[in-house]
Amino acid sequence: MGRKSQRTLHLVRRPDAESPGIFSISTAKTTTHYAFREIPCSIGGRGFAVHRLGLAELYHVRVGRPIETSCECLGYLRHGNCKHLTALAALVNTNEI
Ligand SMILES: [Zn+2]
Repeated sequence: MGRKSQRTLHLVRRPDAESPGIFSISTAKTTTHYAFREIPCSIGGRGFAVHRLGLAELYHVRVGRPIETSCECLGYLRHGNCKHLTALAALVNTNEI
């Protein structure tokens, strides 16, 4: 993996009843912030709605066992993985959210 693809994930703010959570993904050049909140999910895994801060598309992401994971973004549709899923799965797996 090259330096270009190195990403650092940081939980900026935990979600609570009033406000969404915020995490950031940093590369060597830029930091991008995302807002997210957990949404009810009855089909397995945990559901989240996530969007880049500012005017950006909202994606629904599911985190869980491999069969339970999904995202609505083009990256996931094409490659079966994406930054939204990677970030939320990492936060769930480390019990940060
Ligand atoms: Zn995605």
